[in-house]
Amino acid sequence: NYYAILAENRKLHNEVQELKGNIRVYCRIRPFLPGQKEKQSIIDSLNEYGDLTIANPSKQGKDGQRSFKFNKVYGPEAAQAEVYSDIQPLIRSVLDGYNACIFAYGQTGSGKTHTMTGPDGASKEEWGVNYRALDDLFNISQTRSRIFTYELGVQMVEIYNEQVRDLLSSDVELMEMGLKNRAKGATALNERSSRSHSVLTIHVRGTDAKNGTSLRGSLHLVDLAGSERVDRSEVTGDRLKEAQHINKSLSALGDVIFALAQKSTHIPYRNSKLTQVLQTSLGGHAKTLMFVQLNPELSSYSETLSTLKFAERVSGVELGAAKTNKEGRDVRDLMEQVASLKDTIAKRD
Ligand code: ADP
Ligand code: MG
Repeated sequence: NYYAILAENRKLHNEVQELKGNIRVYCRIRPFLPGQKEKQSIIDSLNEYGDLTIANPSKQGKDGQRSFKFNKVYGPEAAQAEVYSDIQPLIRSVLDGYNACIFAYGQTGSGKTHTMTGPDGASKEEWGVNYRALDDLFNISQTRSRIFTYELGVQMVEIYNEQVRDLLSSDVELMEMGLKNRAKGATALNERSSRSHSVLTIHVRGTDAKNGTSLRGSLHLVDLAGSERVDRSEVTGDRLKEAQHINKSLSALGDVIFALAQKSTHIPYRNSKLTQVLQTSLGGHAKTLMFVQLNPELSSYSETLSTLKFAERVSGVELGAAKTNKEGRDVRDLMEQVASLKDTIAKRD
C-alpha cells in the first residue's frame, strides 16, 4: 500500500544518504600525562556536535581563538570503548563487503598509538581500535556463521623510509607478534614507531551458505608516522632522511585524498609506498575515517594548529558513495529504486 511504499522510499533514501562518502574526521585530544609539569591547555571549548575551539596564549580574547568543526571531537576523558562504539558500524560494514580505512594522524606523542593499539600490556578495557576490531569481526562472523561463512586474514606491515616490512612471520598470523617485532629494542620502539607507518589489514571473505555467492571486504587500520615538521637545520644524516620520507609520504597521502576529492582522472597512488599499500581502501568505493590526534599543551600550539588545518581540509573532502564488493545491489541500484518508487507514488496521487 501507499504507506508501505513511502516507508520503503524513506528507508532507501536513508541508505543512500548513509553511503554518501565524505571522509569522516574524528578529533581526539589526549589528557595531560601523569607527572607532566605543564598543565595549561589550549582547549577553549568542545561539544558533542564536533565543534572545537582552541586558544592561542599569545593573543588575547577572540583574536586568539580558532574554531573548527569535525564529525566528532573527543575530550581527554573519552574512553577507548566510547571511541570504538562510534566507529563500530564502519568496522562491521567490512563483513557486508565494504572496504574501509581508518587513520590516526598527528604529531608524535599525541595519542595515535593509544587510539589504534592502546597502552603496552593493555587490559581489555584499554584496548585500542586494532584489538577491538579484530575481536568484534571474529565474534560477529561467528554469530552469522549459519547464514554466512567468513574467512578472515590478517596482515601487518611497517613502512619505514619507503621500505615495506612484513611484521607477521608468514606462518604465525598474530598481531601480538607483529607488535613485538615492531618493538625490537624497548626505547627504539617509540623512536622508530614514530618515524614509521604501521598498517594492520583485515581481509574478509564471506560466502552465502544458501546460494554460494561471495563478498569481499577489507579494513586498513593505520598508525601514521608523526606529522611534526622537522627543522631541517637541526637534523642531519639518518634523521634527515627519515624526516624527508615521512614528509613525502604524508604529502602523498594528502595528494591522493585531494585528487580523489577533485575527481581527477589520475590519482597519484604510486607516489609513495603508503598510498600504494592503501590503494584498494582509499577512494574508489571505500569508507575513510581519520582520527586527528592532538596534544593539549600550550607548547604544542603551532604544531597542533597545523594538524588542525590539515584535518579541516580533509574533512571537507567528498569521495562519492561507498560501495560493496558484491555484485548487484549498489548505490545506483538504490537510486533507481528510489526513482521508481517516487514514480509509483506520483502516479497514485
Ligand atoms: P603517538 O603514537 O601519537 O606518538 P602515544 O599514543 O604513544 O602517541 O601517546 C603518548 C603518551 O600519551 C603515551 O604515554 C600514551 O599512553 C598517552 N596517551 C595518549 N592518549 C591517551 C589517552 N587518551 N588517555 C590516556 N593516555 C593517553
Ligand atoms: Mg606512536
